[in-house]
Amino acid sequence: MIMSEKGKQHVDSCRFCWMCHHICPVGNATGQERNTARARALGISLVNREAIELSEIMDNIFECACCGACVKECVTGWDPVMFTKETRLQAAMEGKLPEYINVLVDNCIEKGNAYGITEIDAALKEKIAAHKEKTDLVLFLGVDAIYKAPASAVNAIKVLEKAGVSFTVLEKEPASGAQLEYLISAANETKEQMAACAKELNGFKTVVVYDPQDAKVLKREYKEWDIALTAEVKTFTAYLADLVKSGALKAENSGKKVVFQDPFQLARDLSETEEAREVVKAYAVLDEMLCNKKDTMWAGNILMAEWMPEVMNRVAEDRMNNARGVNADTIVTASVSEYTALKAVEKDVKVISIEELILG
Ligand code: SF4
Ligand code: SF4
Repeated sequence: MIMSEKGKQHVDSCRFCWMCHHICPVGNATGQERNTARARALGISLVNREAIELSEIMDNIFECACCGACVKECVTGWDPVMFTKETRLQAAMEGKLPEYINVLVDNCIEKGNAYGITEIDAALKEKIAAHKEKTDLVLFLGVDAIYKAPASAVNAIKVLEKAGVSFTVLEKEPASGAQLEYLISAANETKEQMAACAKELNGFKTVVVYDPQDAKVLKREYKEWDIALTAEVKTFTAYLADLVKSGALKAENSGKKVVFQDPFQLARDLSETEEAREVVKAYAVLDEMLCNKKDTMWAGNILMAEWMPEVMNRVAEDRMNNARGVNADTIVTASVSEYTALKAVEKDVKVISIEELILG
């Protein structure tokens, strides 16, 4: 396999190191040594030394959420997300992706979402149609909300309506490229999808991005890969914080004790931890669970549930236990994917989205 010298250096540094094995949400959920940064590096190093075939490690390569908890934990600055993504890109170029990933990639390219869904839920369609007129601000919903969690997308629209914001929602919203970026990294197909998305969004002054995974690529990878996006990009949570601050959203504190689940894309990739807290604190009493802010523990997502649904439930269960650890009875989310993952295992601890907190 062709791997950059930098990639090889990181792989060889991680392959015999145990220091971050306790932090991996997937490894903790499965209890398996294969789900650690070290094991993944060892596998890649064996491929680099031509001891095994790339195809032999590809299932393992797709068992990583790329959540960056290991990167954050590493005191010596090595980056397992970087070499995992490089391996995915190389596998895509060599035609060595697992078949179940190929299907998702083809769907992203042909249908604009990994699930291959083309119909939009009727209630969401109606809400979108009510905001089809062109304004300066576009609310970017993202493929997970549109195709897998339409009720969340409807709530996001309702929150902006409640604040009296004039905004547009695109009837044919382009894919941001976030799913392809996760599946095949910096492939040409990913960049082409991103460029097409940027072209459409540049017709607006401001883009408010509902899903943190889209916000991460729009604010970070687009810049790194020279995708010309001129519109101002704001995360949904930062925008909500502005609305609370300006009084457009009139908050009443219910006195309810809640904890907040930081999406890693906001907390680690975009260094945004306070904006959502400002919103939560306006409506409820915020407590903190173990692993918060930049140390957040990922709670699962919609995309990986396509090939490892049981593990996603265990990942979400583990995070629920952190909420139980501080006797919280409600966990507030700011990621449609984590909301869906946590909802799937909801029992004694209630799961609500930041939109539901605002809408009451
Ligand atoms: S990321 Fe750092 S702590 Fe984790 S395995 Fe690599 S070198 Fe060790
Ligand atoms: S990026 Fe996240 S899921 Fe992947 S090895 Fe690191 S901690 Fe585990």
